[in-house]
Amino acid sequence: MDFELTDEEKAFHGAVRKFGDRVLRPHERQIDAEGRIPDEVLSEMARLGLLAMPVSTEFGGMGASAVLTELAAEEIGRGDFSMATAVFFLLEAGWGYILDRHGTESAKRAVLPAVCSGKAFLGIATTEPSGGSDLANMRTRSRREADGFSIRGEKAFLSGVDEAKRLGGGHLTLTRAEEGGFNFLYVPTVSEGATTQKFQNMGRMGISTGAITYDGVRVPRSYLIGEEGKGFGCAIEGFTVARTFVSAACVGAAERALETGIAYIKERQVFGQALGKFEAIQFELVDLWVQVEAVKWQCRRAAWLLDRYTLRGDDSHRGEVERAVAAVKLTAPPIAFEAVKRVMMWFGAAGYTKDVGLELGLRGVMSYLVGAEGGLNVMRMILGRELLGKEFLPYK
Ligand SMILES: Cc1cc2nc3c(=O)[nH]c(=O)nc-3n(C[C@H](O)[C@H](O)[C@H](O)COP(=O)(O)OP(=O)(O)OC[C@H]3O[C@@H](n4cnc5c(N)ncnc54)[C@H](O)[C@@H]3O)c2cc1C
Repeated sequence: MDFELTDEEKAFHGAVRKFGDRVLRPHERQIDAEGRIPDEVLSEMARLGLLAMPVSTEFGGMGASAVLTELAAEEIGRGDFSMATAVFFLLEAGWGYILDRHGTESAKRAVLPAVCSGKAFLGIATTEPSGGSDLANMRTRSRREADGFSIRGEKAFLSGVDEAKRLGGGHLTLTRAEEGGFNFLYVPTVSEGATTQKFQNMGRMGISTGAITYDGVRVPRSYLIGEEGKGFGCAIEGFTVARTFVSAACVGAAERALETGIAYIKERQVFGQALGKFEAIQFELVDLWVQVEAVKWQCRRAAWLLDRYTLRGDDSHRGEVERAVAAVKLTAPPIAFEAVKRVMMWFGAAGYTKDVGLELGLRGVMSYLVGAEGGLNVMRMILGRELLGKEFLPYK
């Protein structure tokens, strides 16, 4: 087993860290305050090849491995502590990959080059007002028509609804097919019959969350992802990929929190010495660091498994891949949240201010605790099913 990155990977990793330090950090407060990622940041991401990285070069991506994308997600989570840029990044990486792998030639040509150059947004629409965890019970329906599909229903809590309206683009949308099974369809947000609504979130303000109502929205047959009636599997594959990058972004946020905390406890004087000299604080730092380090390698292994199997279209190790990804998505957000919270407490009253900026990370990482890309108990359900067998799922 080789843990060493190649020279190319090291160089790219270094370039993304530099982008995080020079471009994202100076903009993160503006991103949070203005509720959008500035165009110059998106252009720089496009220039570096960071938009929809795993998409093949033919369609404007860099055909990046999951490991390289995971490294970039870490650095973007470290750079923009609000997590907004990380969310934008990982949605396009995960769902761009799915469109590239399972989409039709004409859908790929219509969507991917614009996404990879920052001129369109691509997201995922599975959650409905009635729930996101119990996906198989969704109500949004699609019906086959002469030249495509028509869609009726409502999706909610979708990342990037405003971005898709402003930049162009849309969401890969999971629907119950009237003819049986599930259709996974690319739906441009600005479609006739689609209306949108925006929610007021508490964090990661630079990327919107909203709802879309579909009142007979029509999409061409070429916008079908995977086979008709078999879209559920494509959506699950996308979640497996995207959850790895979510976890990586959380690792980056945790590392940023620890770096901030280490610098502070070396300097802050209490009771006549540096805060970091007190074992109560030093040991807490060590315990957090050990957990973050463990989850980082858990995350890298999940990405390595994706490269070895999933991204090659090899389903033979599906259980192993799903266990690795669910395990890291279960551990990374709570550890990142704990790291940010603990460091905030080392800062005392200052930690509670916007000047120090830890609250940005706290609000951003929280989105992954409440549910984005699947709630923690859903990860536990995947792992329970894997460890005990399908007959132990608590539902039919
Ligand atoms: C900021 C943000 C952005 C999001 N972006 C998107 C997006 O782009 N696209 C999209 O489709 N969705 C998106 N979501 C929605 C997300 O996928 C859902 O929040 C998630 O799937 C959980 O669904 P829910 O919120 O309806 O909670 P529910 O499904 O109602 O679950 C509520 C709680 O119960 C737990 N739970 C569920 N089932 C069980 C069980 N059997 N046993 C024990 N506990 C259980 C869940 O883990 C959760 O904590 C986003 C959410 C957030 C917060």
